[in-house]
Amino acid sequence: MKILSTVNEVRSAVKAWKKEGKTVGLVPTMGFLHEGHISLIKRAVEENDHVVVSIFVNPTQFGPNEDFEAYPRDLEMDAKMCEEAGADIIFHPEASEMYPENFSSFVNMTGLTDALCGKSRPIHFQGVCTVVSKLFNIIPADNAYFGEKDAQQLAIIKRMVKDLNFDITIKGCPIVRESDGLAKSSRNTYLNAEERQAALVLSKAVNCGKEMVAAGEKDACTILTAMKDIINAEPLARIDYVEMVDMNTMKNIDTVSGDVLCAMAVFVGKTRLIDNFIVLED
Ligand code: AMP
Repeated sequence: MKILSTVNEVRSAVKAWKKEGKTVGLVPTMGFLHEGHISLIKRAVEENDHVVVSIFVNPTQFGPNEDFEAYPRDLEMDAKMCEEAGADIIFHPEASEMYPENFSSFVNMTGLTDALCGKSRPIHFQGVCTVVSKLFNIIPADNAYFGEKDAQQLAIIKRMVKDLNFDITIKGCPIVRESDGLAKSSRNTYLNAEERQAALVLSKAVNCGKEMVAAGEKDACTILTAMKDIINAEPLARIDYVEMVDMNTMKNIDTVSGDVLCAMAVFVGKTRLIDNFIVLED
């Protein structure tokens, strides 16, 4: 496995594979990998001849008071995990390689990006769409893998690919959880022991919502109230949002019908965690 840090190097390596008729999978990440990321990489390895994992803590998707500086980084451990999972290349550029002086072009979406995380993190999805577009242009992959953990991001990337005619297939992969239910996240490392326990309210609320839907409850307000009650009962937790939206528009719904995303962001101490479940129409 190679670790490459320049656009030219990774582009030539992938172009050489494409010339031989090989298929290429891309897994974009911010590193500090865990089993959630590894599930994406393993699926990419299964479905493609070669796999590139990008590891880049993208400054443009962090707001001014967010955790860009503090975001955990461990390239050595990441490289070990990528190699074990069967990746061929890690693309690990410096910020100056991705955003050279005078960089001034951004990819902006309306609609889907205004809801949920877009409300509390106003520039976040512009940064995500910009960096993912750049990665798609740098690495001419056949397939790119994203987690349902970031369900809004996945919907946005799928829309962007359609709207802007990127020649790539987006594959969504299920949420990987700790054995007690907490969704795996690089940010879980910020939690102290007490907060780690308190963070279970997210998956408990998700399970409660899922069970209510499975039992036939259709009223979004009833479901959301039960979920919020679970989270509000935990003194270390503070709700950013808990909402039910139409998967295709990200607009709030009153009644569960069609494809629905029930998503939440909750601060546990100072750490903002997200979780969700999806209800697909039969
Ligand atoms: P990140 O490094 O947090 O930007 O995540 C990189 C990719 O891994 C994104 O597509 C995430 O949705 C995905 N991912 C992160 N955590 C999980 C998880 N627990 N289960 C599945 N996918 C995940």
